[in-house]
Amino acid sequence: MKFYFFLLLLPFASCQSQTNLPTTKIVENESSQSDTIETFYEANKGNDLPSKSIGSVSNGSLLNGKLLPFSGTNFRYFDTTSYLNKRAFVHDQLLKTVLSCYKECEIAFPSHSFCIMECSNEKGGKIAPHHTHQNGLSIDFMTPLVKDGKPYYALDSLGAEHYLLEFDAEGKNSDDKTIEIDFETVAHHLWILEQTARKNGLKISKVIWKLELKDELFATEYGKKLKAQNIYFAQNLTPIINSLHDDHYHVDFELTRD
Ligand SMILES: [Zn+2]
Repeated sequence: MKFYFFLLLLPFASCQSQTNLPTTKIVENESSQSDTIETFYEANKGNDLPSKSIGSVSNGSLLNGKLLPFSGTNFRYFDTTSYLNKRAFVHDQLLKTVLSCYKECEIAFPSHSFCIMECSNEKGGKIAPHHTHQNGLSIDFMTPLVKDGKPYYALDSLGAEHYLLEFDAEGKNSDDKTIEIDFETVAHHLWILEQTARKNGLKISKVIWKLELKDELFATEYGKKLKAQNIYFAQNLTPIINSLHDDHYHVDFELTRD
């Protein structure tokens, strides 16, 4: 099933050669990579005007979108190519939400770092292979993992291929059962995200997460709180959409005020 998605990812992955990014040099020279990204961020971070999300997450666009910073104290964007192809734009209220969420996470999880996956195009609209992510109010968050009881980050740098990782119904990685989903951290992160969203005129409208993993999530301390607060998790997913939402959880937000 995931092979199909991989085919869809190929045009995205091949952007690397089309845009002539100096990937080999980037690996060899980390300071030049961070210079490239910093220059790109400064040139593309967006204007000072308020953002406007038009239409829906599945049929919409974005005005005055803001580019997420590539990294912060305890977070980073998952893929350089995706970032430089302008796929990390969000509504300004969502930018504030995400930054303030990770500040809170510095207190709740002092030793953790997190990864953000794809967001929206600069002006929203279709962003293959996603069906949604069209109006700056959707973000894919990389699922935190543990191995031997400790946070595990070795798979974080896979780039677009991270979307192809598979986990079984108990949250164990299909290739290495000792690598497992950190359900407590997923639930706690989502809880903090909802609280910071509400302070910024947003709320979570939908979480897409593999159906077989919901029991484990809701059994955690913060999973119970998510349930009590009626955070909506998608109930019916096609087999392919279901199988894709384990290495990451997709979150749609809605505006509660401008
Ligand atoms: Zn998504």
